[in-house]
Formats: sequence, structure tokens, C-alpha cells
Amino acid sequence: MSVTVRVPAKVNVQLGVGAARPDGFHPLATVFLAVSLFDEVTATPAAELTVTCEGPDADQVPLDRTNLAARAAEVLAARAGVEPAVHLHIAKNIPVAGGMAGGSADGAAALLACDTLWGLDTPRTELLDLCAELGSDVPFSLLGGAALGTGRGELLTPVDAGSFHWVFAVADGGLSTPAVFREFDRLTAGTTVPEPEASPALLAALASGDPDRLAPALSNGLQAASLSLRPALADTFAAGIGAGALAALVSGSGPTTAFLVRDEEGAAKVAAALEASGTCRTTRTASGPVPGATVLPA
Ligand code: ATP
Repeated sequence: MSVTVRVPAKVNVQLGVGAARPDGFHPLATVFLAVSLFDEVTATPAAELTVTCEGPDADQVPLDRTNLAARAAEVLAARAGVEPAVHLHIAKNIPVAGGMAGGSADGAAALLACDTLWGLDTPRTELLDLCAELGSDVPFSLLGGAALGTGRGELLTPVDAGSFHWVFAVADGGLSTPAVFREFDRLTAGTTVPEPEASPALLAALASGDPDRLAPALSNGLQAASLSLRPALADTFAAGIGAGALAALVSGSGPTTAFLVRDEEGAAKVAAALEASGTCRTTRTASGPVPGATVLPA
């Protein structure tokens, strides 16, 4: 018997970043949107905890206990007082180290898959607490849809969202999220960084489902830092906007870039132009919001 959980990637349609606290963490006000780019994690009983991974970026995924899916199994097993005797197979389609929360997605998926496999029926609120222990983006991967995240991004409030179409341009190589935050600190040193707050204009545009309203409301406080570390992303932006995208923004800490488009036809056109431009490694089209981690029928 095995359990497979499907889990979406995310894009931050707003990412407000405050100044680093004494403990080094940055307060965030971020609006997450789950998009239809999915990983699948399958949990199967095994003698001991093992991880395998397939997919275009599989060689970049650690298969040891640092994999967030493995950590999720360990954390849940410890809480339940059982052995993490499970094999986790990750079918990976979310770009690795791309700012789309791929590792976090696998953590949430493994948690739900193991909870189901072991028949634990852990209450949802406790699963969300375990997710927050694993990482700031993990609770949203479980929740899905659209949500405002505060604190480190882990304190979630669902928000209304119409459906939107996106093209994601996957860059060559990843960007380390801590490195992007360090660059943010360097760029903002000596300035006053305001407390991050959800943008009322962004939330209204998201709820309206109107991409022409959403386009000017998108924002990412880490974008300058990502562009500073990867100046070539400006060329990717130009290629997507030149092909008719309504807006471009760095996805999370990057280097994946997200292009808002009006419809599927627009998505295909922008994706083709981006691929032809040679300014990215590959593209993915997706729409959202979509549900969070979900157990697939056996
Ligand atoms: P975020 O958007 O949450 O900042 P990200 O999308 O930029 O994350 P990930 O794809 O989660 O980045 O990968 C970041 C690093 O995490 C990888 O370089 C890898 O070493 C490690 N990692 C651990 N578990 C996983 C996993 N299951 N899938 C991918 N990477 C993982």
C-alpha cells in the first residue's frame, strides 16, 4: 500500500520584506498564490527512511536527511511515537531553488502522505504547526489557494482570489534564499525599511480576478536583491514584456521570473517568445489559485 500526495508551487504576488530582526529573520507580509505546477510525493512502507527523486532537476535534489520530505517524515514520526519506516519518492516538476517553494511543497506533501499512510489523522492545525517547524513556506504548501502570510510567512490568513494565468521562466542555476536576504540587507543598509504590510490595492485586485488590475499591484521587495545577484534577469523581463506579458516579477527570492498574462493564448505566446529569446533555461505555464497538498485517489 502507498499514498501519493500532489502539491503545488507558489508565487508571491506581494512580498513585503522588513528589516532583519536581531535573530536575523526578516518580518514578511506576503501574499501567496498556489499555481498549477505540481510535485507528487509517494510514501510507501519500507525498512528505513529513504528518498528517491525523478524529474528534470532531480540531480539537484538532496536524497539524504536534509531533504525536506525526509525531515517531514521524521518530525511526524517523532510526534506520533512511530518509526519513520517509509520510502518517499518525489516526482519533481517544480523548479529547484527557483523561489517557487519546491522543497517546502515536498515537505508538506510528505507530511500529509505519511499522516495518511500511518493512519494518524493528525488534526489540521497540528499539521500546520509541524509545517511551520519545517520552514516558513511549508504551511502555505499544505493550505494552498491564496493567503496572506505574516511573521516569517508562516502565519496564514486565506484571501479571496480570482483565477490568473502565468508563465514562469526558469533560469539556469538556482539562487540561495539566504544569499538573497543578505543582499537585501546590504542594499538597504543605512536606510529605513518600513514595516511590511499587505497592500489593500493588491488584495482588491486579486479578489477581482482582473489581470489588468493585478498587473500594476504586483510587488516583490526582494526583487532588487535578486536582480543585483543576477543582472541577466532584466533581459528575461524584457523578453516576456516584449511578447505581451502584462507584468513581470521575480518569483520569491528568484531566479525564476513570473509573467502575468491575460489568458492561455497569451501564456503560449509569451512562453514561446521567452524560449526563443535564450534568456532562460525553460518555461512553464500555469494558473492559480489551486488547492494545497491533496491525497490522490489510490
Ligand atoms: P523557497 O521559494 O521556499 O525559498 P526555493 O524554491 O527557492 O524555495 P527549493 O526548491 O525549495 O528552493 O530548494 C532550495 C534548496 O533546498 C535546494 O537547493 C536543496 O538543496 C534543498 N532541498 C531540500 N529538500 C528539497 C526538496 N525536496 N526539493 C528540492 N530541494 C530541496
